[in-house]
Amino acid sequence: MTSTAKKVNLLGLSQDDLEQFLVARGEKPFRARQIMQWVYQRGVDDFDAMTDLSKKLRSELKQGAEIVPPPVQTRHDSKDGCVKWLFSGGSGQAVETVFIPEADRGTLCISSQVGCALDCSFCATGAQGFNRNLSSAEIIGQVRHAIRELPSRSNGESAVTNVVFMGMGEPLANYRNVVPVLELLVSDWSYGMSRRRVTLSTSGIVPHIHKLADDCNVALAVSLHAPNDELRDQIVPINRLHPIATLLEACWAYAAKRSNRFITFEYVMLRGVNDSLLHAKQLAKLLQGKPAKVNLIPFNPFPGTEFKRSSAETIRHFQDSLRHSGLVATTRKTRGDDIDAACGQLAGRVSDRVKKRLGEKSFGQVVNGDKSIRMSSV
Ligand code: SAH
Ligand code: SF4
Repeated sequence: MTSTAKKVNLLGLSQDDLEQFLVARGEKPFRARQIMQWVYQRGVDDFDAMTDLSKKLRSELKQGAEIVPPPVQTRHDSKDGCVKWLFSGGSGQAVETVFIPEADRGTLCISSQVGCALDCSFCATGAQGFNRNLSSAEIIGQVRHAIRELPSRSNGESAVTNVVFMGMGEPLANYRNVVPVLELLVSDWSYGMSRRRVTLSTSGIVPHIHKLADDCNVALAVSLHAPNDELRDQIVPINRLHPIATLLEACWAYAAKRSNRFITFEYVMLRGVNDSLLHAKQLAKLLQGKPAKVNLIPFNPFPGTEFKRSSAETIRHFQDSLRHSGLVATTRKTRGDDIDAACGQLAGRVSDRVKKRLGEKSFGQVVNGDKSIRMSSV
C-alpha cells in the first residue's frame, strides 16, 4: 500500500533539523552533511544520484522526503548583464530575484516575503501590501536556482559570490524562515559563503536585530532613509514603533558583536523630501564616530508613486557633505533598468493581498513574526 503521509521537503532545512530528521529514522547525524553537499553544492534533486548514501537510506528518503524548489515562471536578461527571475509563490502570486554581475563579484538580490506589510511610502513592494512569508525552501531555492543556471566566474568561483536580502519583503518579519537560510548560506556543507558576503537588509525591526546578533550575525544593512523621527515616521512607518534612537542602539550592539564591522545605512534620495544639506548634517550627527557607512540609493520610480528622484547634483552634494563630516558614503549605481530590476521596483505579483495600512496592533504581529499575520483593514 502506498503511504499517503506528506513528504518532508528537505530543501531549506537547517543542518540541525536535517540531522533530527535522519536520527529519527535511525541514521547517523553526519548523513545530513552528505545530503547538504548533494543538494546545495552539486544541485542534485534526485536521491538516487546521492551515491555515497546507502541504498536503504536512499529508498527511505524517496518514500518520506523530497527536494522541491519554487517553480520558475520567467527569466529576463538585461543589456547590462543583470538577470531577473520571477518565481511562483502559489495562488497566482510571484516574487522576484535579481542577479547583478560586477567585475569583482556577482550579487544575488533575493526576496523573503510575497509583498511586504511595512508600507514604506517609496517602495513598490510595500505599495502592493502583504500576502505571506516565503518558506525557507522558497528563499534558499532562489539562490540554488541562480547558481545552477548561471555560468561560473572565470576563476571557477560560483557566479553568485554575494547574497543580499534586498528583494521583496522584510526579512526580519519572516525571522523563523530566514535564519535557516542564513545558516545554509554560510555553512561549509552548503554554500560556505563568508558572513561578510551575506547581507540582510531591514527597515528596523529592533527586537529581531538584537536576536540576529546572537543567532547568525551576517552583514547588516539598515534602511534609515531619514535623519529624524518626524520624517522617518512618515516614510518608514515601522519607525513609529521602533524610533531612530532604539534602532541605532540595536545597530551598535550588533556591530559590537561582529568586531565592530561596519553597518551599512541605506538612504533613498527623494527629491525635496529627505535630500537637503540640513538632512545630511543631521544624518552625519547620528552616525559620526560609529561603525557606519552610508549607501545613497537614487530613488527608482514605479507606476503610481508621487516621489521623484533627487538630481545627480543634489545626490553628489549630499554625499560630499557626509564625507566632509568624516563618514564613508557611496552612491548605488542603478542597474537592470531595462528589466525593472532596480531596488524598490520589484513588484512580483501579489493578489489576495492583506490590506496594507497598519495599526499598532498589526505592527505587534509583524514584530513577533506571527505566522497567522493579520492586518487591520483600514
Ligand atoms: N525590507 C528590507 C529589504 C528589502 S528593500 C528593507 O526595507 O531594508 C531593499 C532596499 O531598497 C531598502 O533599503 C529599501 O528602502 C530600498 N527601496 C525600496 N523602494 C525603493 C525605491 N523605489 N527606490 C530605491 N530604493 C528603494
Ligand atoms: Fe517592505 Fe523594505 Fe519595501 Fe519597506 S522598503 S515596504 S520594509 S520591502
